[in-house]
Amino acid sequence: MSAAPDAGGPRGTVVLDAERCKGCELCIPACPPKVLRMSTRRNASGYVLPELLEGCTGCGACLLVCPDFCFEVYRFESRGDAS
Ligand code: SF4
Ligand code: SF4
Repeated sequence: MSAAPDAGGPRGTVVLDAERCKGCELCIPACPPKVLRMSTRRNASGYVLPELLEGCTGCGACLLVCPDFCFEVYRFESRGDAS
């Protein structure tokens, strides 16, 4: 009767520093589960911003590829992990 703690749930999320973004789109293809896409929003400098869809794994690929260090990446703890 044990439920898998991670089944289907979100594993991570990202916070975007919108004002740093230059709209270069490098983060879009870099995201393995393809949960980043360009939105219609722009920052104060006029650059189009990416947005996050559901399904982020917290892998950090966007953080590594972004030349402007826009992303903070968070990974959720597994509730079943007692270590
Ligand atoms: S942390 Fe990984 S899964 Fe989440 S948005 Fe960034 S690249 Fe995509
Ligand atoms: S890689 Fe960074 S600067 Fe480029 S669009 Fe993504 S968040 Fe913006």
